[in-house]
Amino acid sequence: MVMLCTGCAATSRVTSSTSASTATVSSPHERFVADFMSAYWKLKPTSAISNGLFDHAATLDPYDQATRDRELAFFDERLLSLDTLDLKPLDPNQRSDIELIRHQLSCERWYLTSFKEWQWNPAAYNVAESFDLLVQTEYAPLDKRLRTVSARLTRVPAYYAAARANIDHPTLEHTELAILQNKGGLETFNDDLLEKVRASGLSGAEKAEFERRALAARQAIEAYIAFLDGTLADLRSGTARPFRIGAPTYEQKFRHDYETGFAASELYERALKEKTWLHDQMAVRAADLWPKYFPKEAPPADRLEMIHRLLDKLSLDHVKRDELVSAIRQQIPQLEAFVRERDLVDQDPTHPLKVRETPAYQRGDAGASVSAPGPYNPGADTFYNVTPLDHETPEEAESYLREYNRWVLQILNIHEAIPGHYTQLVHANRSSSIVKSVFGDGATIEGWAVYGERMMLTAGYGNNEPEMWLFWMKWNLRSVCNTILDYAVHTQGMTREQMMDLVVREAFQQDVEAVQKWRRATLTSVQLTSYYAGYASIWQFREEEQQRLGKAFDLKAFHNRFLSYGSAPVPVIKALMRE
Ligand code: ZN
Ligand code: ZN
Repeated sequence: MVMLCTGCAATSRVTSSTSASTATVSSPHERFVADFMSAYWKLKPTSAISNGLFDHAATLDPYDQATRDRELAFFDERLLSLDTLDLKPLDPNQRSDIELIRHQLSCERWYLTSFKEWQWNPAAYNVAESFDLLVQTEYAPLDKRLRTVSARLTRVPAYYAAARANIDHPTLEHTELAILQNKGGLETFNDDLLEKVRASGLSGAEKAEFERRALAARQAIEAYIAFLDGTLADLRSGTARPFRIGAPTYEQKFRHDYETGFAASELYERALKEKTWLHDQMAVRAADLWPKYFPKEAPPADRLEMIHRLLDKLSLDHVKRDELVSAIRQQIPQLEAFVRERDLVDQDPTHPLKVRETPAYQRGDAGASVSAPGPYNPGADTFYNVTPLDHETPEEAESYLREYNRWVLQILNIHEAIPGHYTQLVHANRSSSIVKSVFGDGATIEGWAVYGERMMLTAGYGNNEPEMWLFWMKWNLRSVCNTILDYAVHTQGMTREQMMDLVVREAFQQDVEAVQKWRRATLTSVQLTSYYAGYASIWQFREEEQQRLGKAFDLKAFHNRFLSYGSAPVPVIKALMRE
């Protein structure tokens, strides 16, 4: 089961990989880190698989009392040993590695002993993803991978037996999610897999054993689903745990998931002010633009209504359905050139971003994402996956294209690619610290991409067109309102209707998005704040540096240095840059 803090598992690392143990190691610090990481991955074989490490992939530990005892002992022993570590010989970058390890350990200790999601979230138990990765990732020849899968399959029944024993006073929402996702998980063990096995080089006996184990795994998943199904009536009658985690827990979880220098309540207050500022700015631009787009009509008296109508009108300007992938492909070199000409941040022409159609096994919703080489395989290609609008109805495709209209598509490319996630990852993989790559802060990762959007527009990208700024504000408002609603839902009892109003009327989003947002807010906590939390923290840091250094402030140097520390939390980077 994946029990990494949500804040520490932000980037997907679906890639082949070399073994962790083959890395060459020299200094005492590097030895310490290598020893720690190797013990850590041994403790968490499933997390290791998600990080592209397959050394312990045959192991699947049921999350029973013995496993929890072993984890707790590991956290406590390692925390104690960090306290006695002599930090004096370490340089600042190495010291920050130690701080990240300390943070990770105390974070996971808190999840295990206080947050206890393993008790109340039945959706925490699902074996499908790790098996999918083993089958799909070509880290070794197929026969070898199938033998690993076969060995891992033997533990699936014990895994779900432990899950059932752990569930105590769950939420209704996570129980329903667990049923849905485990039903989906059954697909992993369907005929496609068995066909692969039959066509493989495994011996007849191995193939028969594989089939038997796969069947037992399916039965274990079906039994888990039936068990959860059996609790639904009771949960619906009012015995379920509330999905709202409450203010004290929220504040603690926020501190563990994302280190930004803000308290959760402080960030919430800041987001409220930011929302007002964005509305003011949007109203000014919308009033200017109104006569250009509605020459014969007076603007509505309600300013939000005016902004909304203008955004709807502008959204009609978008690429054609079958030109989405090529439009994105054309924009990447333009962004690269702008960053180079304005001298904003170092780029690496030896690791070009490859735009491709999303491979079938990674396709979910329509959209775009960056698929990066993991920290254990920094030489591999980085892909910008774009899912073509092949399967959407004409209405769905039109709605998507309006959302990602001429302006927003450019902002999306800034966010995902240059100078957003892709540029950040190129720098992060160059920093030698495996700790910062693996235990990186999700708020730094998302915050950098959001920071990059405003930084580019401020540097003149889009020629200061009011349309571009208007859509940037709409886009930014989404992060801001995500922060507001997540906090308000979990700590102030915000209702579904109140949230819908915030998302649709105040943040100009579609009803469907608002419905999905409510679902996400009931199933996760804190995660929705990462974009704004990281962005606010980075933007504030930049302003402080500008103030402090005056004329000596150099934007490119600031960016290069900031990115050289990988995905460390902003306060850690700040301390390192000031040293
Ligand atoms: Zn953490
Ligand atoms: Zn992002």
